[in-house]
Amino acid sequence: MRSTLFSTALATMAILASPQLSFAQPASPTTYIYAGKLIAEPGSPPATAKTLIIRDGKIEAIKDGYVAPQAGAKIVDLKSKTVLPGLIDSHVHLLSELSPRSVLNQVTKEESDLALDGLVNAQKTLAAGFTTVVDLGADGHHTIFALRDQFASGRLLGPRILAAGAAISPTGGHGDIHGFREDVMHVLGPQSVCNGVDDCRRAVREQVKAGANIIKVTATGGVLSNTASGLGQQFFDDELKAIADTAHLLGKNVTAHAHGKEGIEAALRAGFDSIEHSSYADEATFALYKAKNACMVPTVLAGATVTDMARAGGTLTGAQAAKALTVGPLMLNMLARARKAGVCIVFGTDSGVSRHGDNARELELMVEAGFTPVEALRSATVGGAAHVGLSDQIGTLAVGKAADIIAVSGDPLVNISAIRKVDFVMAAGRIAKD
Ligand SMILES: [Zn+2]
Repeated sequence: MRSTLFSTALATMAILASPQLSFAQPASPTTYIYAGKLIAEPGSPPATAKTLIIRDGKIEAIKDGYVAPQAGAKIVDLKSKTVLPGLIDSHVHLLSELSPRSVLNQVTKEESDLALDGLVNAQKTLAAGFTTVVDLGADGHHTIFALRDQFASGRLLGPRILAAGAAISPTGGHGDIHGFREDVMHVLGPQSVCNGVDDCRRAVREQVKAGANIIKVTATGGVLSNTASGLGQQFFDDELKAIADTAHLLGKNVTAHAHGKEGIEAALRAGFDSIEHSSYADEATFALYKAKNACMVPTVLAGATVTDMARAGGTLTGAQAAKALTVGPLMLNMLARARKAGVCIVFGTDSGVSRHGDNARELELMVEAGFTPVEALRSATVGGAAHVGLSDQIGTLAVGKAADIIAVSGDPLVNISAIRKVDFVMAAGRIAKD
């Protein structure tokens, strides 16, 4: 069980416990969790009356019945609850949240404001039961890496973050800065913009250099770019191929924001590991997903959110609202067809478009699209873990894995809405909500 990673974690904890670092957290005591119902792996039969023994941030043992604790251990009584693995959201934007102030925020918020916003948003996300998130775009801001590293070290309590840094976009594309006076945009930039094969290789390398865990690309137009340039392909095929090849050369997965069918298929052909949104995918696109062994992160909550915002008025600009009303209502139907076609679906919400902490609403929407509750939960646990390459650490509750554990009242396998109210959250062995 004592892997290299475990030794590294111990070494980190030893450094943090040194007297020079007064912000170090005390080591959590050994914890005994009494689970009334245990869904250790969504998809496998649940168990009843189990004890999970947690030590040093990991699950040390899972025993039948309610085992008497050793001296000094802490007991968490969840005998009346359903206990599950912490959830994984593979598409969030922790540093922002869409509002009527969003445009102004870009020129008024300091980096320190973003850091504290990100901390609050991360804590809301964790309290909602999401112990791992993938942040897919915090343009120009290294803050997301700082948050990730603070949470990973245990100095601040938050979800495990994998971060893309800035999304890579072509000039004038969805991820390029736009909608301001030209001289203002010069101040706000540079974003991660690239044009042409060599330049796009550079852009990927720069994000890896900055600390990215995953590469995010805006392959097509997007709903929230304040331009009337549609939702079609924006990078050329050779640029997409250069980006995917460079990411893979450097050992990183690469995912594409893509709405239009041609853009989705171009990214899949280029070797992208996953596609975000995928709004206009059809049966031919689904076949390509499967042939390329790629996964879809559908973010139907974002579609529902922008559709509501466009109808209500007040938040989106004219160009944004027009695109929202075109694409938003399509997404649930696309997801239903993708599921039937057998496409790999990974849970992701695009939270930051929707409010942070509402992430589990996506699970309800997936069930509306025809997923069984267990299929939906699997996409947010086992599926998410595989997607981020951490199946050996997260996604199920098993001996040796991270103690990322949540509990709810009721049974989410019967009624998925039970997952909307999470009563208990433990992240890497530390209790975040009780
Ligand atoms: Zn997004």
